[in-house]
Formats: sequence, structure tokens, C-alpha cells
Amino acid sequence: MGASDRSGNPGLNIMWVEDWATRAACQAGTPDALFVRGAEQNKAKQVCSGCAVRTECLAEALDNQIEWGVWGGMTERERRALLRRRPAASWRTVLETARDQQTPVSL
Ligand code: SF4
Repeated sequence: MGASDRSGNPGLNIMWVEDWATRAACQAGTPDALFVRGAEQNKAKQVCSGCAVRTECLAEALDNQIEWGVWGGMTERERRALLRRRPAASWRTVLETARDQQTPVSL
């Protein structure tokens, strides 16, 4: 799979990476490093700050309601809070639109 650009204007928008897992910054570490518990997740998520596919990873976790581990720079607790606020959202749509428009996500 490759990247897609919904607008047809690749010069302005960042393309959505369909095969985002192959570009994950956390690939270099051990898989268990992101599946720590509690407050350790806040330290673990630091690897996500430099990840090129953070948005895609977060959308995957939210849309699939993945409960465990750090995904997209967010802890389990942080993701649960988002899901409570917008339980019916398509997070890919929300996050992709916000990124295309360079606007913060309104929750
Ligand atoms: S955002 Fe974090 S958990 Fe997701 S792929 Fe990137 S480094 Fe891994």
C-alpha cells in the first residue's frame, strides 16, 4: 500500500501513509517498550515525538479502540478520554482533515 492525497494537491498537503507501520520510529526499539503500565507510559511515549507516522498510528488505535499500550504519542488513559468525547468519530477522518487544513483537532 502507498500514500493517498484526498485533495489532489500534493504540494500543499501531507499525504496519509497507508503502510505507516513500516515507518514507525518505535521499530528500532523493543516491542514491549510501548506496552508498559501506568505512569511509565508517559516516558515511553517520548519515542513518538519524532515519529513521522504519529497521526496514522493514533488514528489506527482510536478507530480500532486499541486499549493497551502507547500509540500515536498517547497513553491508554489519554486515548480513552478522546473516545469518550467522540465515541462515533472516524478518527482517521478527524485527524487527516485537521492535518490537511493545518488546524488543531477540536474535541
Ligand atoms: S507514534 Fe509512537 S507508537 Fe506509533 S508508530 Fe510512531 S513511535 Fe510507534
